[in-house]
Amino acid sequence: IMETISDHHHHHHNHKPHFILIPWMAQGHFIPMIDIARLLSLHSVFVTVITTPGNTSRISSTISRLLPVHFTTLSFPSTATGLPPGCENLDSVPSRDLARNFYNAAKLLRQPLEHYLRTSIPPPSCIIAGVGFPWLHSIAKELNVPRLVFQGFSCFSLLCNHNLSFFKPHETVSSPSQPFLLPHLPQTRQQQQQQQQQQQLMITKSELPKFFDKSSEFYDIYKELQEGENSADGIIVNSFDELEPEYAEFLAKATKKRVWTVGPVSLSSEDKLDVSERGNKADINEEDCLHWLNTQVPGSVIYVSFGSMGKLAPEQVKELGFGLEETKRPFIWVMKTSEKSPELEEWLAGEFRERNEGKCFLIRGWAPQVMILKHKAVGGFLTHCGWNSTLEGVAAGVPLMTWPLGADQFLNEKLVVEVLGIGVRVGAKAAVASMEGGEKGSGEMVRREMVVKAVERLMDGGDEEGKERRERVKELEEKAKKALMIGGSSWLNLDLLIGYVSEHDVVKLHG
Ligand code: UDP
Repeated sequence: IMETISDHHHHHHNHKPHFILIPWMAQGHFIPMIDIARLLSLHSVFVTVITTPGNTSRISSTISRLLPVHFTTLSFPSTATGLPPGCENLDSVPSRDLARNFYNAAKLLRQPLEHYLRTSIPPPSCIIAGVGFPWLHSIAKELNVPRLVFQGFSCFSLLCNHNLSFFKPHETVSSPSQPFLLPHLPQTRQQQQQQQQQQQLMITKSELPKFFDKSSEFYDIYKELQEGENSADGIIVNSFDELEPEYAEFLAKATKKRVWTVGPVSLSSEDKLDVSERGNKADINEEDCLHWLNTQVPGSVIYVSFGSMGKLAPEQVKELGFGLEETKRPFIWVMKTSEKSPELEEWLAGEFRERNEGKCFLIRGWAPQVMILKHKAVGGFLTHCGWNSTLEGVAAGVPLMTWPLGADQFLNEKLVVEVLGIGVRVGAKAAVASMEGGEKGSGEMVRREMVVKAVERLMDGGDEEGKERRERVKELEEKAKKALMIGGSSWLNLDLLIGYVSEHDVVKLHG
């Protein structure tokens, strides 16, 4: 099989490099890395994914269809650092206080990992490392192997982060809510073509990723991660050139690193099961969900999800529910099972259920997100703007309603709403502490009227602005699909990446 694929793609390299992928154990990092492994294997190189048993067991069926990719597991020492047994993914860390323990448990993988890398046959040609492994630097140096990072961010937010840490404008503002300019961003192609002035993108301190907060209890960890990224040989990005070309280019210039955009990786397989079981087994019956979607008018359904980690305080969950109900539109609502409170459970099972029978398809736990987004009934996506979700919405041609909670999400919102013009803000103002599971949200509550207003703007078919937004996202969907096809930009970037790694191998072996 490998031979036919290789002939088909007529590779110029006669040497077959060995890529080692070490995904960070959080769904937003793990899922796209598995897709990247699949994409690399389609380019007929050796691919090994190193992870832990708890993470492979979630996707055992996907792995069984990914035969050319080799999976190696190292047992995860969760109990050694005080985590509950079986806690091998950030989404199952019971509380924010234990996040550091998780990071430390990952550090204990160092010795077995280094052993694997030293003894692996064929030897590694390249390491693609997730964010939590900055210490891979020294072994990569020792083995003279390029180490590339995969942070899971967009080029836009990577560039913003780079510029913010360099120019530090946030250190001179007087209050957390005072807007300041995102420094040193390029003019977009579209602005150049239409001879428009460069857009001024503003941000506030309360919207910034936590790693800019020196008083954060995790600041030391953020520093280590940052150093790991600064010393990497290149950056792999889940994005595509047509989406954010100027940011990709400036990111490479600013960091003086090679940047390879290889996405949207969610399009790496069209296999029905790969799509419906992506990342985890769904907590609903897929057929039921598809059946419900089939009974809905095309473009009428709103899909609501806050990603794999996003949690809202119970009152906020209810307020959102009231808002969605008031729109009288059908919606699929994904709620994490950790978002439990007796009061909320009672409301959901009683009053809410009665009033929304047939209108609301509720998913508690894991949703087959890409399967849902692809369905023609879905006409809008209320998202927390995690980068994977954002790009999955784009790849499905669905306009977004943005409700960032923290991390890089406010930056993604700016890209979506202000630069690309494919989204509507709900109006969330500040990162919420509930991201990490607390009730003590620092941001103001998003009220039901805000939800209703944003949904109406997003879904209204008659209005010119809404029509244009929909057209723009459909155009991007087409470009996204082309990017992954043979000869498309992401396909070519992957080829360039393989060329870069092969060349390094050849020089290493033959001088
Ligand atoms: N996801 C999913 N079902 C869920 C929740 C999340 O399939 O119920 C997937 C989603 O499609 C995306 C990833 O998990 O690929 C979440 O990544 P993202 O960057 O959007 O957000 P994060 O979870 O990292 O905040």
